Amino acid sequence: MINVPELFGSLVFDERTMKERLPKQTYKALKKTIKDGKPLDINVANIVANAMKDWAVENGCTHYTHWFQPMTGVTAEKHDSFINPNDDGTVIMEFSGKELIKGEPDASSFPSGGIRATFEARGYTTWDPTSYAFIKDGSLCIPTAFCSYTGDVLDKKTPLLRSMEAISNEAVRILRLFGDKETTRVITTVGPEQEYFLIDKAMFDSRKDLTYTGRTLYGARAPKGQELEDHYFGKIKDKVSAFMKDLDEELWKLGIYAKTKHNEVAPAQHELAPIFTTTNLATDHNQLTMEMMKRIANRHGMECLLHEKPFAGVNGSGKHNNWSISTNDGRNLLNPGKDPFNNHEFLLFLVAVIKAVDEYQDLLRISAASAGNDHRLGANEAPPAIVSMFIGTDLEAVLEALVNGQNYNSDSDQKVLTGVEVLADFKKDTTDRNRTSPFAFTGNKFEFRMLGSNDNISCPNIMLNTMVAEELAQFADELEKAENFDEAVVEIIRRTYLEHKRIVFNGNNYAPEWVDEAAKRGLMNLRTTPAALAHYIDEKNVSLFKKHKIYSESELNARYEILLENYSKVINIEALTMIDMARKDIIPAVSKFVKELVDTAIAKKALSAEITAELEVELASKLSKLQLCFSNRIDKLDALLLKTADITDKQKLADFYADEVFPAMQEARVVADEMEMSMDANAWPYASYGQMLYSVK
Ligand code: ADP
Ligand code: MG
Repeated sequence: MINVPELFGSLVFDERTMKERLPKQTYKALKKTIKDGKPLDINVANIVANAMKDWAVENGCTHYTHWFQPMTGVTAEKHDSFINPNDDGTVIMEFSGKELIKGEPDASSFPSGGIRATFEARGYTTWDPTSYAFIKDGSLCIPTAFCSYTGDVLDKKTPLLRSMEAISNEAVRILRLFGDKETTRVITTVGPEQEYFLIDKAMFDSRKDLTYTGRTLYGARAPKGQELEDHYFGKIKDKVSAFMKDLDEELWKLGIYAKTKHNEVAPAQHELAPIFTTTNLATDHNQLTMEMMKRIANRHGMECLLHEKPFAGVNGSGKHNNWSISTNDGRNLLNPGKDPFNNHEFLLFLVAVIKAVDEYQDLLRISAASAGNDHRLGANEAPPAIVSMFIGTDLEAVLEALVNGQNYNSDSDQKVLTGVEVLADFKKDTTDRNRTSPFAFTGNKFEFRMLGSNDNISCPNIMLNTMVAEELAQFADELEKAENFDEAVVEIIRRTYLEHKRIVFNGNNYAPEWVDEAAKRGLMNLRTTPAALAHYIDEKNVSLFKKHKIYSESELNARYEILLENYSKVINIEALTMIDMARKDIIPAVSKFVKELVDTAIAKKALSAEITAELEVELASKLSKLQLCFSNRIDKLDALLLKTADITDKQKLADFYADEVFPAMQEARVVADEMEMSMDANAWPYASYGQMLYSVK
């Protein structure tokens, strides 16, 4: 029997532990620092550090590390032991306030987008006391922000914290206007649903493509995919179930609210959803969740695939970023209440989000842009690359009624003047669902569904927080000057909805007609990562981030460059891997198999003229032709890669990878998959799709 409440957070230096371990004065001082966002006094830091160290050592730690989220998207850590030498050759375990507050990792090998020249290698990590320290793998982990010597941000954490500050400031301004005098801070909350695949570890190891790139670059479809729809919410297999139990326990120990687990649509695909929490914690927790998934899968002889599209022909994996805004005492500002028509505060926040999504479609698209996610967006499984939003027919009717100067009665036994049937209560269950929308209102929160499974969720939340902060700021500017507040609010709601309702689409986002309709509405359709990234540094975006002090222009440029470079590198690695697999494994395997066929044909003929060798001859001939075609396409791919050396402009290089290299990879793959289908399974050098997708029992 496990005692979950006792287990929960046992590896976290959380409130409970702090209260237990810190002198009252120190605890108070620390809490005050956290609340006011002021730097920590060194004397306080020394006491906190020592208490943390004692706690960590009692829990089996020997090391500590500053844990941060550089622009690679994955977390980084460098472990130092607590040991300090004594004069007599013995050691004691020590951890100072200085070590807690500040670290100085040699940062020269992290991407900086040209912000920090390699000779100026210094980077600083500083403790983010709003995120608790925790224990992982025998190390005390201190969540930190990462910046350069000159103070430029080099990570994903700092801008996220800044964006939370920005939306809080602007939202509080709005709340004051509505007469709320108590709220001191507004927080954004996030619950990220995480999809993943589990496959047999030995099969994973046998494939260079999975090992180097996280996805299969070759592989013929299995006879059975997801067409029977028998996997979604299906019975969880024993091995997977054991993994999920282990994972839940490890996550609970880390104070992560792991809540829901189930099978997903594709074979071998699963999902985990936590209970939502404050955005920066949700981000840390999601990073830890992904790390734990991989680690625990290994323990169970499996590999966890977090790539957005590990297998062609079945669904890829995404992440749903459920996002809402609430006051510091927990009032959800996106809750429509019983009577949304008369809930002007809610409607104002709602139209702020509508306006934001319309004006900054490109930023949302960019926040989900990666080489891996390009396989999903636009395919028939994830939302399309076009950003639009779903608010449900009820809320649409409310806004339409307001715009048309009509009344809307939310009473259950009355009909609306617009002719729409009204529901008794605006509860989450009564709003209709639209699974195809990239950005859907789901009762009291928005669900942003474009993200890839591997994404760090800080980026979409930086975008969301900042762009909504901007709209709230504009509303507040106008309302603070208004003579008649009530009238001005209604006017803003009406005007904003009218001006931005083109972004609202309640229909099927997968329908081909939507692409034309969206084009008519003037919505963006940024199909590839390089096409999307080009808008990152558009003037409106630069001024947005500058105004709210999220990124300076050079920080934004750096991010743009890093993302472009990352895209090019990923495609380059994939292409090189394909070439390697082709020349070292696939082409020789086909030759060997053809030789076997030819040998068999000769043997048959030698034995008797009566025995036909037609099949062997035909197959050998077919495979030889395919093999030659494949080899030519691989040579073409190789030649394209050589050309990349001449392209110095980063945008042009990424465009070249998207427009030239990627299609050449697809062309080569098609031929390889056809050869795989015609060959003896034992002669093919890799585990098949069928084996991988159905390997875990
Ligand atoms: P789905 O039908 O998409 O699975 P759920 O109702 O299970 O939706 O919720 C999905 C996620 O939304 C969960 O992680 C949940 O904690 C999160 N969520 C619920 N309310 C909020 C909120 N106010 N802010 C952020 N996330 C929320
Ligand atoms: Mg969802």
